[in-house]
Amino acid sequence: MIPAVVQIAVPTPLRRMFDYLPADGRHAEDYLVGTRVRVPFGRQQLVGVVMGFSPASDLPATRLKKIHATLDDQPVLPADILTLLQWASRYYHYPIGEVIQLGLPVLLRQGRPALPRRVLEWSLTPQGQQLNDDELAALGKRAPRQAALLSSISLAPGQRADADTLDREHTHWRAPLGRLQANGWVEKHERAQLLEPSGPEPDEPQSGHALNSDQRQAADAVNDKVDQFGRFLLDGVTGSGKTEVYLELIRGVVTKGRQALVLVPEIGLTPQLVQRFRQQLPCRIGVLHSGLSDQERLTVWLAARDGQLPVIIGTRSAVFTPLKSPGLFIVDEEHDLSFKQQDGFRYSARDLAVLRAQHAQVPVVLGSATPSLESLFNVQQQRMTRLTLPQRAGPAQPPRLHILDVRHQPMEAGLSPAMVQIVRQHLDRDRQVLLFLNRRGFAPTLLCHDCGWLAACPRCDSHLTLHRSVGRLRCHHCGTEQAVPRQCPACGNLDLRSIGAGTERIETELAGLFPQAEILRIDRDSTRRKGSLEDLLGRIQNGKRQILIGTQMLAKGHDFPNVTLVGILDADQGLYSADFRGAERMAQLIVQVAGRAGRAEHSGEVLIQTHHPDHPLLMQLTVQNYAACAAQLAEERQGAQLPPFSRLVLLRAESTAVDAPLAFLVQARQHAESLAVGGVVCFGPMPAPMEKRAGRFRAQLLAQADSSGPLQHLLSVWIPKLEGIKNKRQVRWSIDVDPQEMF
Ligand code: ADP
Ligand code: ZN
Ligand code: ZN
Repeated sequence: MIPAVVQIAVPTPLRRMFDYLPADGRHAEDYLVGTRVRVPFGRQQLVGVVMGFSPASDLPATRLKKIHATLDDQPVLPADILTLLQWASRYYHYPIGEVIQLGLPVLLRQGRPALPRRVLEWSLTPQGQQLNDDELAALGKRAPRQAALLSSISLAPGQRADADTLDREHTHWRAPLGRLQANGWVEKHERAQLLEPSGPEPDEPQSGHALNSDQRQAADAVNDKVDQFGRFLLDGVTGSGKTEVYLELIRGVVTKGRQALVLVPEIGLTPQLVQRFRQQLPCRIGVLHSGLSDQERLTVWLAARDGQLPVIIGTRSAVFTPLKSPGLFIVDEEHDLSFKQQDGFRYSARDLAVLRAQHAQVPVVLGSATPSLESLFNVQQQRMTRLTLPQRAGPAQPPRLHILDVRHQPMEAGLSPAMVQIVRQHLDRDRQVLLFLNRRGFAPTLLCHDCGWLAACPRCDSHLTLHRSVGRLRCHHCGTEQAVPRQCPACGNLDLRSIGAGTERIETELAGLFPQAEILRIDRDSTRRKGSLEDLLGRIQNGKRQILIGTQMLAKGHDFPNVTLVGILDADQGLYSADFRGAERMAQLIVQVAGRAGRAEHSGEVLIQTHHPDHPLLMQLTVQNYAACAAQLAEERQGAQLPPFSRLVLLRAESTAVDAPLAFLVQARQHAESLAVGGVVCFGPMPAPMEKRAGRFRAQLLAQADSSGPLQHLLSVWIPKLEGIKNKRQVRWSIDVDPQEMF
């Protein structure tokens, strides 16, 4: 049958595609799948993407609208990315129109042409080149600006000057340049700008280290499967040279003219990684990070799609970057929470990278020193091959971990006397000390010593954090800010005291305790200004006698060769968490922070302060290793039938009305029960661990099953029921498939 209507993904929260009629004089099949079109939608005009055709619509033809305009001659989204986005929309149950939008760079969402930025350049014509010295001298007298322009152009690289170059060297150059063109001495060219203007030409590649035998084995195992799908877990202790293995694999892929996509948690935090890639790979590298302009992002995206960029490094959303000939997918620090989007379209970039590799029939490598229990489970199920790098590369020794019992100890600057003494020893040897405290600000809260008033956030079930240097109280959950009161708002007393310590307070107190050391604080507050993190990292790189105090920003992949002592000031925060993944995260964080110690020739030690020195998790980490700890955690999860031994879907609801979310979820549960999908168990509803946040009350309902099949089945029949629940009180709800955080 001849298709009569075009199915279009339109960016709306409705969970379906929309039927449109072809524009006058065109047929449905004239439209290509993957091209953008402009369509009327309600009173607006929206940019949609052609997804398919159908012989007829469910709607009567009189109600169908016509496509207004076609925006592309060729599909902007290649077929494999369309398939991936459709799969993700179905699996995460997020509206197809919005998912397709998120797969496009911002400028393409807005309907702008799918072209890289055009750059204008000017060169001399043959006539211009033939001007002799006399003629030039005459021109210099008559029209000095024109003569100066001629000289700039002939001296420019490749004898072509672009507008940026002329801007740097001349003022008001456009009119004289126009006269040079009119005289036939200069001609204009237009070329597509491939990468950011300052984008370095590939440096002379520096060869890295020759791989050691563990690295060699790991690389060979992946290379053996280079033209087929294979999932690998590169399980290598911190400093074992995982990055060198990635580089080796990427070189192989690039040599064959194929592309590698590397996903990392946060590029801004680890400029060193990108630098190493640039230095060691003999090719152009596209970096997708949050600092790019929309135009730069589009340019990299197009270059990746058209096969002009052999290597792309990016964070979570880069998983949707189209590649002309994919050869390898890498997810570095695969355990990191940032790969799972926590709002809106809640996808896992790690899991989608695996799916892409499977579709493309190429290997995917997930790397970590602290693999997630999910990945370890996949190894156990033989769905994934584990490659281990059990030792640090080069001369570095693994750090030794010790527990410091701080019960009954007098604490100074958050340090017990034993810690103070050891810090001093390391500083005396001109080394650096890294202190880790996952709490920024001066103090977690402010208390009135007279009446007990606490600075609470008016919009959350939480305290306001004191930021003394800026004189503000801030909520770390909703961003509410207030000036620090001079007297108690409840009783007027002046005796307001800060309770507990954050990095800002420790920083101040350390300065008093260790006057001989330079104290550097690294957290989101101290690195807010652009470039300040780079400055700090630069000072640390060659520093001596420094104490680095910071939050988990310090845990991420940095290589600080002179750090020989890592102190974890408070390990107790994660031991008793409301989230069943709390212990896993704490273990990962401790091992990652510990991994910053002793990465060069000096060996390192790690001290963990705790009030629970006998806690089994800490015992395993210190006496054994992460693997032992993970095995123990896995056993507990299996006993409780929690992931990875089961699958979960979380239905969250929130509202400004206190009872509305629970009332909504009670109905949701009734629907789930009446649908009676076999193998699914519901838990709840229950209030979220932090019930009130940013002025909204939150609750959740959990559905669990042995595998994802029953849950997917439930969602497909349950969501239409949820959409039908009458919630006059404006409940907002969302579905989280494979949730990573339980609140
Ligand atoms: P990871 O990514 O596992 O943390 P890196 O790749 O950053 O480890 O390597 C840690 C350190 O060891 C780096 O300084 C790196 O230069 C060095 N290194 C890596 N592989 C080797 C090797 N085969 N021989 C000598 N040094 C190496
Ligand atoms: Zn008071
Ligand atoms: Zn708040």
